[in-house]
Amino acid sequence: MLDHSFHDPADQVARDPATGHPRPPRREFKSRGSFVERCPGCNLPELNCLCPYAVKAESEARVWLITHPMEHHKPTNTGRLIRDVLPDTEVFTWYRTAPDERLLALLEDERYAPFVIFPDDQPDYAERVVGIGAVEEAKREGRVPVLILLDGTWRQARRIFRKSPYLDRLPVLPLRTERLTRYRLRKPASAEHLCTAEVAAELLRKGGDVDAAQALDDYFDAFNDSYAASRGFEKIEAPTAAMKRLLARKT
Ligand SMILES: [Zn+2]
Repeated sequence: MLDHSFHDPADQVARDPATGHPRPPRREFKSRGSFVERCPGCNLPELNCLCPYAVKAESEARVWLITHPMEHHKPTNTGRLIRDVLPDTEVFTWYRTAPDERLLALLEDERYAPFVIFPDDQPDYAERVVGIGAVEEAKREGRVPVLILLDGTWRQARRIFRKSPYLDRLPVLPLRTERLTRYRLRKPASAEHLCTAEVAAELLRKGGDVDAAQALDDYFDAFNDSYAASRGFEKIEAPTAAMKRLLARKT
């Protein structure tokens, strides 16, 4: 039983304000998954807190997330893991009618070479599609490659891509990978649909940021395993291989 309010002594001495009689403990209605105590540091259930495994890494490429407003509140969102590992990551909230002014300014900044990460499965933007070689080319030109990830469900990402005129002139970089998702917290439409943190890790690796990619991948695995175990009320007693690699980075 993880519901702390059930055992809260304050509940046991609660009295009916009308009669002064002791009142039986009452359980509030709480939505699924919210009845566990969450760590304020990592927002995961305290049973398997992720904080001991938090690491920072450095990368040449940057990640900017354009996050759908519905996505921010989901504890299963993996976009935030990217910012935990790569502190230079920028996070913008997407509003169709009110583009973020800071994002617009950054898109004009010559120091950066931004790429929208999106599949190349539609013909109408085929001329904007580039390969991973464009990331290395940007580095050779002395610019910072930026991977712009559209963070949301597949439908939301498509909407952001289609309804954001400021993205229309940017090169589109699709992720070509054989990797299948390891994400266990939401059911993907297909095993080929990677979650946001996995997409970032794969692109960083392909673009030459191998160390940052490994750190992010390990942190993602630790998150995934910790969260899934907590859902089953199971405590992870021995660190997994990914967790051990993360701990080794910190020493
Ligand atoms: Zn924590």
